[in-house]
Amino acid sequence: MTVTISDVDERVEFSTLLDSVFDERVNGLIEEADRTGTFPRQIIAALGDAEVFARKWQRGHVPDLHLLFALAERLGRTGSAGISVGVSLHDSAIAILRRFARSDMLVDLTERAIRGDAVVCLGASEAGGGSDLQVVQSTATPVPGGYRVRGAKKFVSLSTVADVVLVVVRAGDTARSAGELALIALDRNDVEVGPAYEKLGAHCLETAPITFDVEVPAEALVARAGTGLAALSWGLAQERLSIAGQVVGACDLAMGITVARLKSREQFGSRLFDHQALRLRFADLQARLDVLRWALQGLAASGQVPSIRAASGLKVTAARLGEEVMSECLHVFAGAGYLVGQAPVEKWWREMKLARVGGGADEVLWELVATGLTPDFDGYARTVSE
Ligand SMILES: Cc1cc2nc3c(=O)[nH]c(=O)nc-3n(C[C@H](O)[C@H](O)[C@H](O)COP(=O)(O)OP(=O)(O)OC[C@H]3O[C@@H](n4cnc5c(N)ncnc54)[C@H](O)[C@@H]3O)c2cc1C
Repeated sequence: MTVTISDVDERVEFSTLLDSVFDERVNGLIEEADRTGTFPRQIIAALGDAEVFARKWQRGHVPDLHLLFALAERLGRTGSAGISVGVSLHDSAIAILRRFARSDMLVDLTERAIRGDAVVCLGASEAGGGSDLQVVQSTATPVPGGYRVRGAKKFVSLSTVADVVLVVVRAGDTARSAGELALIALDRNDVEVGPAYEKLGAHCLETAPITFDVEVPAEALVARAGTGLAALSWGLAQERLSIAGQVVGACDLAMGITVARLKSREQFGSRLFDHQALRLRFADLQARLDVLRWALQGLAASGQVPSIRAASGLKVTAARLGEEVMSECLHVFAGAGYLVGQAPVEKWWREMKLARVGGGADEVLWELVATGLTPDFDGYARTVSE
């Protein structure tokens, strides 16, 4: 792939644009959101107004990964998982719409979402399962001119503030195979949203259950029966890549503050940083964080459309590293770190756990990676003489 000057210019401009969007006002909104546990729609509006989504999606349905990671890292550096994941879920919904929306109604929704005028969220998980979507019970049954859509979703982040929810449904009451899954857009007004859950962290993500029983026009169908899982997987691949980038940003923030702690606090007559055991542990974490950062940059530079498997492997590896980084940061702050409100690391530690669950938990992602494990039978035959 040839990288042109205009590509480089575009990435630099995008980065400058992000600097300008995350200004005092937006950072103030984020602080307020973390304090009140309410997701500010103005964040999506501000990103839309500044054309962050428009630039990211200007090349059609395949985003420039440089821009995807730039946004993700910037979100991670806000130190608010609620904001980061909220924005990336909206953007992942755009990814699905950008690729699969066909009707005028959905194309219009996509444009509004890109402009930040509409907030879109995703409802896949049900009480019966999040990892295993084969157990989805919600249904879409054909009626004249459209579908009757009935069911319930257990976890729908942003459902309290969104305009539209993309729900995974079984296209027919009796169909039981995964191949029958479809994806359909529901107007938020047609959905009953329950109270948002109390969570360990990411409070402003506002995750709530929804129930629905509504007739929608045929134009609301995003992905027909048999393609719903593929459409969702496309969105989830974007979400997983974003989470990997968010981990990099969040760890940069936490490491910087923790290294400052290491260099400012003294115990046993010398700075914590001067104790080799601590210094080397952080050097190891920094080295692995840099490997992750360069892996993301390398993937972006390769120009490839990342496979579901690659996105899954990056997300699970990033999330586990992120959890380790936050745990070690909290460890350095020790007693003060464990107290609520004295240092931000306890919040970051609680929030990072979500990275290992949301968008697919570790084992589910490893299973996707496992499908690509390739045996070298020739080499085996040549080298093994048991
Ligand atoms: C704060 C928050 C926000 C969320 N927001 C959304 C949202 O907006 N939209 C949405 O659709 N969902 C959302 N979710 C749901 C999330 O995607 C699921 O929680 C996640 O996919 C895991 O599903 P589960 O909780 O049902 O766990 P389960 O599927 O019950 O899995 C339990 C554990 O078993 C492991 N496991 C499962 N299957 C296997 C296997 N075959 N082999 C080995 N191990 C296995 C899993 O990795 C996990 O560790 C959200 C969840 C949280 C906590």
